Amino acid sequence: MSKFKFKIKCDEANHVCDKTQYEDASLWEKIILSLHLIYCRACRKYSKNNATLTETIAKSEIVCLEKSCKDAMKKDLDKAIREVSN
Ligand SMILES: [Zn+2]
Repeated sequence: MSKFKFKIKCDEANHVCDKTQYEDASLWEKIILSLHLIYCRACRKYSKNNATLTETIAKSEIVCLEKSCKDAMKKDLDKAIREVSN
């Protein structure tokens, strides 16, 4: 049986980080990634940027997908335009 690999290279860590964003990483991969992030500053930064990006996309999707919210915004906008033009 081969030994478990605790230390991974940065590109591997980044790959796992990407997979984590899509809930595609195994528990073991997440553990190794966490260990890597403890001692690797570059990957911590990468991971943080990645999380921010995912968060931003998730937020914009909520805005785009909520039809009722969109309709309400449109109504408000139409009302505002009407008030300005009157
Ligand atoms: Zn690294």
